[in-house]
Amino acid sequence: MIVAKYHIKKNDLVMVTNGREKGKSGRVLRVFPEKEKVLIEKINFVKRHSRPHGQQRQGGIIEKEAPLAVSNVMLLCEKCNKPVRIGHRIVEGGKKVRVCRKCGEIFDK
Ligand SMILES: [Zn+2]
Repeated sequence: MIVAKYHIKKNDLVMVTNGREKGKSGRVLRVFPEKEKVLIEKINFVKRHSRPHGQQRQGGIIEKEAPLAVSNVMLLCEKCNKPVRIGHRIVEGGKKVRVCRKCGEIFDK
């Protein structure tokens, strides 16, 4: 699924540009277009209390990634090694791809 407004997709490498996790980067695990949020691997861990289920398991605290506002992340260009703005280009076959506006690196391969 694509968040058209922000051009960020699952498996993209992104960097957090705002908030508590600013400067960290990771892969996008999930996109929530309706909430304009993205879940990023190993970023924005929050502690959650899990309730015990029956008598088998004990309740406790688990750490889990929480989604971040997509407006607080930018696509990270591995060539430029920094967050970049995205441009679009039509490649052979008429396919529209996302490219780095700085170096022209194609993100959709
Ligand atoms: Zn680049």
